Amino acid sequence: MSLDVRKYGYGWAVFEGGKPVTPELSQKHLAENRRDRIAIERQRRPRNCLRCEAEFVSTGPGHRMCNHCRAVAGGVDPQMVP
Ligand SMILES: [Zn+2]
Repeated sequence: MSLDVRKYGYGWAVFEGGKPVTPELSQKHLAENRRDRIAIERQRRPRNCLRCEAEFVSTGPGHRMCNHCRAVAGGVDPQMVP
């Protein structure tokens, strides 16, 4: 199911499967921000850390280590940490 931003009432809303999933928003960029946040939220799921195997909430495919291990791996550019 894809999320799109469309005109809705006097403003904008995020639609999924032809139905609005947000209230009417006054500006298109607000609806686009909502859409991006919904998409990120949906990628969140519990995973086991690659390093210590503790369960943590991953924000997506690029996030595979718990916060503790990411901090230990610090000093490295955070974008480079799996
Ligand atoms: Zn860990």
